[in-house]
Amino acid sequence: MNYKWSRYLRMILLFLAAAFLAGLVVGYPLEGLLAGLLVYLAWTLAQARKLYRWLSNPGAGQEAPESIGLWGDIFDGLHKLHRGHLATQDRLLSQFNRIQESTNAMRDGVVMTDANGVLEWWNDSAEYLLGLKRRTDRGQPIQNLIRAPAFKRYFSQRDYRDPLEMNSPARPHLHLHIQISLFGEDERLIVVKDVTRLFQLEQMRRDFVSNVSHEMRTPLTVISGYLETMVESADELPARWRRALNTMAQQSTRMEALITDLLMLSKLETGEQHGPETVVDIQALCRQICNDARALSGDSGHQFQLDIGERHYLRGDEDQLRSAFSNLVFNAVKYTPAGGRISIHWSTNRDGAHLSVKDTGIGIDPVHIPRLTERFYRADPSRHKETGGTGLGLAIVKHVLLNHDGTLEIRSEIGGGSEFICHFPRIRLAEPVPAEVSAPEIGDEM
Ligand code: ADP
Repeated sequence: MNYKWSRYLRMILLFLAAAFLAGLVVGYPLEGLLAGLLVYLAWTLAQARKLYRWLSNPGAGQEAPESIGLWGDIFDGLHKLHRGHLATQDRLLSQFNRIQESTNAMRDGVVMTDANGVLEWWNDSAEYLLGLKRRTDRGQPIQNLIRAPAFKRYFSQRDYRDPLEMNSPARPHLHLHIQISLFGEDERLIVVKDVTRLFQLEQMRRDFVSNVSHEMRTPLTVISGYLETMVESADELPARWRRALNTMAQQSTRMEALITDLLMLSKLETGEQHGPETVVDIQALCRQICNDARALSGDSGHQFQLDIGERHYLRGDEDQLRSAFSNLVFNAVKYTPAGGRISIHWSTNRDGAHLSVKDTGIGIDPVHIPRLTERFYRADPSRHKETGGTGLGLAIVKHVLLNHDGTLEIRSEIGGGSEFICHFPRIRLAEPVPAEVSAPEIGDEM
């Protein structure tokens, strides 16, 4: 480069020297030099003009201008740069087209929005699943186009750990699974899956369980009724028949409990069980449950402690809450050896309200805890005959809490007792209905 530059400089100097010499020959050396400088300036301006015209429209297909010397090299360099630039542009464009083709071939819908939720790009499947229109919807806020309140709520919250399930706004027969991820500066990538088939299968499973339970209930009631009558007059029967009858009566009671729980669970899942939401007095509810638990404990000598904090009114479905809390308290009785302590504690704080059911019972190995709320999951399958449980109690608790925007926390260790805590959000706390106001009791020993 340095070599070339000194060559250009030499050429210019030679040209100016020639102009000076020519002037000297005719007796006007300075004028000759000046004329040389002017010629050089005019030529330079002409080259600059060529460059300017090319630069103002380099994409018009013309080659870069041609010249000699320094300008020739500048034009060649620019030409190469321009060609390289065009090649990179072509490569990027073809890559972009490929990405677009592959995302368009995807069965899942993909949508990109900017930080304000304005639609930037989406693929063909998103167009089909969400009903977006390429011609009119670009640049529109997505919340103006997908107006389902559940979507609006999900989109504006910034916690996207759980997906959203909803019906398609454009094709209501489709059931969608929507997951949002944040990227860049608060931009959102929305992935939409069509889970209609899975949803229908799940629906069929629920209907099947619910229908079978319904169908079995009537014959079972008849069988239990006859068995009960026969057990009552068992004294008249031979001893071996008496034992058989007692076992049959016990098993039919278990089956009835199982069917009641299955029906309850399927109603909770389908939302059928949703009674009217009222202001529930948790203190009165826990007192009743505690009394029932004492009856269940019988002669086992369990000690019960009821400690209900001041704000003890919750907005919810009383029957569902009774079912959930009594499952927890009855479990505590079932899994705590005679003489053990069972405490029920209700408290409120900034996060909401919390109902804890704590026992000094056999405890649970922590490896089982994540799966305890699954249907029929038992930490110790060998014991379930003894306890007579259905294996559905905690699944019911989980569904009731889901219906009340709550969560279940389980703390336990083998031999160290267990604690089941129901957490409810603050918005669920309510003020007592005036007629029902009663002085709260704290530290109530039973
Ligand atoms: P089950 O009818 O068998 O009690 P649940 O769904 O109520 O069914 O409980 C599931 C399993 O969780 C039980 O089988 C038991 O192993 C365990 N479990 C529940 N509550 C307790 C408790 N308080 N102490 C120890 N284990 C418990």
